[in-house]
Amino acid sequence: MRRIWAEQALLPEGWAENVAVEISADGRIATVMTGADPGGQRLTTLLPAPANLHSHAFQRAMAGMTERRGVQSGDSFWTWRQLMFRFLDQVTPDHVEAIAAFVQMEMLEAGYATNVEFHYLHHQPGGAAYANIAEMSERIAAAAGQSGIGLTLLPVQYQFGGCDGRPLGPGQVRFGTTPDTYTKLLDHAGRALHALPADTALGVAPHSLRAVAPGTLADIAGLTEGPVHMHLAEQIAEVAEVQAHLGTRPVEWLIGNVAVDPRWCLIHCTQMRPHETEALAKTGAVAGLCPITEASLGDGIFDGVRWQAAGGAFGIGSDSNIRISLSEELRSLEYSQRLRDQSRATLATPKRSTGRVLFDAVTQGGAQAAGRASGAIQPGLWADLMALDGTAVDLDGRRGDDTLDTYIFAGDDRMVTDVWAAGRHLVQSGRHIGHDRITAAYRAAMIDLRGRI
Ligand code: ZN
Repeated sequence: MRRIWAEQALLPEGWAENVAVEISADGRIATVMTGADPGGQRLTTLLPAPANLHSHAFQRAMAGMTERRGVQSGDSFWTWRQLMFRFLDQVTPDHVEAIAAFVQMEMLEAGYATNVEFHYLHHQPGGAAYANIAEMSERIAAAAGQSGIGLTLLPVQYQFGGCDGRPLGPGQVRFGTTPDTYTKLLDHAGRALHALPADTALGVAPHSLRAVAPGTLADIAGLTEGPVHMHLAEQIAEVAEVQAHLGTRPVEWLIGNVAVDPRWCLIHCTQMRPHETEALAKTGAVAGLCPITEASLGDGIFDGVRWQAAGGAFGIGSDSNIRISLSEELRSLEYSQRLRDQSRATLATPKRSTGRVLFDAVTQGGAQAAGRASGAIQPGLWADLMALDGTAVDLDGRRGDDTLDTYIFAGDDRMVTDVWAAGRHLVQSGRHIGHDRITAAYRAAMIDLRGRI
């Protein structure tokens, strides 16, 4: 049993002082005591560490390479996607493992305890399966073995090049699965996870209404008891394509045709009308928001104010991994609402500050979307924890919600000193315990990759 003690901690019932937390050998929180004497590792502020609910690890390797304007008028999401497809012609399993371990290390250093990996890079260049159909899933699992992060792996079903059922384009063939090959891949990916700790989870991810047969969504959801994630209503062009083929907008279609429940996490939802926002929120599904990536791609602004008023759950993910920053995702989400509504503290309530509302939502919503018994400092849950730097000048003397507001709006991830994932103490003094080794492997992989493209 390990004991940590904090001057203040955010518990399910609110802020508490002089909090001792005992972590059992299996990585769960054993006891939580308030008003306790100092003992064990001493901290200033202890928080539950959220899950990063949406990531495509390999895209990290393209960060900073997609900021030029193309020859066509108007650079858009679609030209970004073309570059991704070119890049994909060269990525090997060794690259993927090195990139994923680096991404997971960055997530941990930012304060995330869990990587929910929406994993669709399955096959060899040209589209043939590897000898082991789940080779790439095994590499993501091996990366988690290196970084120690909590992993929820979501192998992706990606069958078509568009709503009309057209075949995959040349840039998409490495993703391709049929219902049969997907079932096999999922089975093998599940076995690859057996080597990882008990907090690891498996779920499914139909890529989008464009890439799977919409009529098969219920079957795909039935393949595991884990979470079900899907991209939904991200871009105007996607909404138009779905409307042309299915007769309704994407969210309208999903709610009208599929039993969406709290196992579901819909990624982006940046293109919803008010009635869609309200109806989807009431299903109990999590909105998987990726504010930095959505800004980078020009997707649009999620209607967080209406979603919250309807009681909707949400969490955040780093998606393209152009920048992995927990504090910046939360700040970007709130600032997008302010800029749209010309308002301030849009998500705050009379009792909870903006930072507190954001943090409570993403710890709970992230755990739900990860299918992980986590999201609070509470006995029985996995010890997913993060600590903030008590010596940071801006945090000096801050208490309660002011601590979170300062960290999110005036600070950044450098304030994160310690992170535990299911009790594994992976970030200490602001650095991952394998930082140098994982960074060196990533640097070598990137030098090799750059030489090929
Ligand atoms: Zn995505």
